[in-house]
Amino acid sequence: MAYAALSEVMDVKLHPDVSWLLVDDQRLQLRQPDGEHITFDQDVPDILAVLKSLRESESNHDNQADSGIRAALIDLLHTRGLLLDVSDSRNQFQRLLEQHGASGGRLLYDTPPKTVQIAGEGKLADIARNVFQQADIEQLDEHSSLRIVTCDSDHRQFLLEQNSIAVENKQPVLFFHWTQRALRIGPFVVPDQTACLHCAYKREQATSLFGDELEALNKAEVGTQPVFDGGPVLEQLAGALIARQVMTIMNGNYDLARPGLVTTVDPILLQVSHSPILKLPRCPVCSTQKDSPLRAVRDLI
Ligand SMILES: [Zn+2]
Repeated sequence: MAYAALSEVMDVKLHPDVSWLLVDDQRLQLRQPDGEHITFDQDVPDILAVLKSLRESESNHDNQADSGIRAALIDLLHTRGLLLDVSDSRNQFQRLLEQHGASGGRLLYDTPPKTVQIAGEGKLADIARNVFQQADIEQLDEHSSLRIVTCDSDHRQFLLEQNSIAVENKQPVLFFHWTQRALRIGPFVVPDQTACLHCAYKREQATSLFGDELEALNKAEVGTQPVFDGGPVLEQLAGALIARQVMTIMNGNYDLARPGLVTTVDPILLQVSHSPILKLPRCPVCSTQKDSPLRAVRDLI
């Protein structure tokens, strides 16, 4: 009874991404957005009445349901995070993200980044600005808690320069750029904790069969590489990708934001590839041991 009274005071509604199926007269299956299902095989009419009243999100949830069953069901829904305040205005992506649960990587930061600043010019920078505005993500000109580096081409000198600035200032940074015929997002770099862009390029070069070509690409001049030209498909895709990534970071869901991962999205084949990046032990940009003397073999004997 206490919960029933509470629900009326709090003005709650059923999570919009929860659904149910009446399997038959005796069974009702409650389907949660995280993929879990609960099947009730008793008191189905009462449970159905409570669910319907909560879905309508009216302040007065009077209905014919048994008050004990109503209280127990509200208790269950509340424990599983399936009741929302009626004034909850989060969009569907935010709600689903919340349902994903707490991230194991949350400890990387005491508090996840709250503001962003965009370093970069061109179409991808404009797309990012617009989508952040739509998503109510606060943008600053400087001193933000997350740096977003955008580039309309694979201009590695610029990207590496931004990488050094962010790591030196201990500012988390996310890279987003166009490369050949795909969008590339990442790595998301947390200084002192995860691999940086320099680590990524060095490892890429070390494992490539075409090392000299990659080295030339790392030093390529502006204007020599393909440039992002936009259009409805590429612009919407780019906006969705950068917004998704920043929202997962700000939510503290580091298992979704995946620091140390480079993701490439091919818009023609709709193929997504992920390349994990390990930190270089002696990376000249991000390693904390870069100034310590190299250990000689004789030290170990
Ligand atoms: Zn590094």
